[in-house]
Amino acid sequence: MSEFVPQKPHPAAPAPRRPSVAVQIGKVTVGGGAPVVVQSMTNTDTEDPASTAKQVAELARAGSELVRITVNTPAAAAAVPRIAERLAMMGVEVPIVGDFHYNGHQLLEREPACAEVLAKYRINPGNVGFGKKKDSQFGAIIEKAIQYGKPVRIGANWGSLDQGMLTALMDENARRAEPWDASHVAREALIRSALDSAALAEKIGLPRERIILSCKVSGVQELIAVYRDLAARCDYALHLGLTEAGMGSKGITASSAALAVLLQEGIGDTIRISLTPEPGASRTGEVIVAQELLQTMGLRSFTPLVTACPGCGRTTSEFFQELAKTVQEHVREQMPVWRIKYDGVENLTLAVMGCIVNGPGESKHANIGISLPGNGEAPAAPVFIDGEKAMTLRGDRIAEEFVGILDDYVARRYAARTG
Ligand code: SF4
Repeated sequence: MSEFVPQKPHPAAPAPRRPSVAVQIGKVTVGGGAPVVVQSMTNTDTEDPASTAKQVAELARAGSELVRITVNTPAAAAAVPRIAERLAMMGVEVPIVGDFHYNGHQLLEREPACAEVLAKYRINPGNVGFGKKKDSQFGAIIEKAIQYGKPVRIGANWGSLDQGMLTALMDENARRAEPWDASHVAREALIRSALDSAALAEKIGLPRERIILSCKVSGVQELIAVYRDLAARCDYALHLGLTEAGMGSKGITASSAALAVLLQEGIGDTIRISLTPEPGASRTGEVIVAQELLQTMGLRSFTPLVTACPGCGRTTSEFFQELAKTVQEHVREQMPVWRIKYDGVENLTLAVMGCIVNGPGESKHANIGISLPGNGEAPAAPVFIDGEKAMTLRGDRIAEEFVGILDDYVARRYAARTG
């Protein structure tokens, strides 16, 4: 394995991707230069196959390419094949990942159909078993992965750090001439827990092509430090995520800040945004944030995004905010159909601008842009298509007419997919 040295990004592009071993999860490839994969996790009770299958389907339709479910009890393990059957009936093909803690070795032994149906197992070396049982229970899960031909994510987590490893490293640190600080020791324990577990899995017989690693923490700077170090010390595919990111804008901001730095350096093969949803809110928010993060960084394209100005005193009307929202919602609603019908439509760019200052200029950079009239400007909204002024909209039906222009453009510009 050649050591990965993070490179300086090009001034206007991400650095080359860190070389990693490709891992196949169902039909999805993680690592080995494949596009960064978006994944998510359900929060339904896995023992309830109807609600879990429904949420998995929602997440998959929102764009989650892998969906993880917790498998925590015998009844949950028994429900997994029924969840898979329901998804098949709904025409949803997304690979399902089983999240195991404490009793995974027993559940996989007891429910062979669960072991067979899952596309990947996730195990946490910090809570796979304690004391003398740790290695044997970890080994039992790896044996199941070998038996069923499944990949495994070895996911260490700050909140369930392997205490034996931490104690050993603290003792080792105490003997250093210049001891590390406590957070450095904890980071090392997290990384060593993942790397040593991966080495053990390989020794038992699991190929490298079936191992993904993660080392999640909840602090932005800690996460960046941990993953830079981890990336330099192995070539396993890496699952990236800030654990317990939190709610609303805090969770989005913290996850984006941490993941963007690492992705920009070429680190990370699959991402999950661990958002706490608002009560009653859809779980799909974490998928949209993950997609928007990758898309705004220029790493992947999923859905046309609307560029809109923030507005200021030059436009006191809320009309342009409403139009920007209408257009973005329209695009999201249409994408499930557009994606099937039109090749490349995810690369479409749109602009909705509030006045003449930046409106025409920004609109010209987009495939379709509209510059609405600011205060005191003539009540006319020029529309730009591929950099040229194409028409001017006036009156009460600007929103409907603009959406119509957008639909016509998509149908004309993007080739119909065949087959
Ligand atoms: S485009 Fe006009 S309305 Fe929008 S932020 Fe700039 S100056 Fe303000």
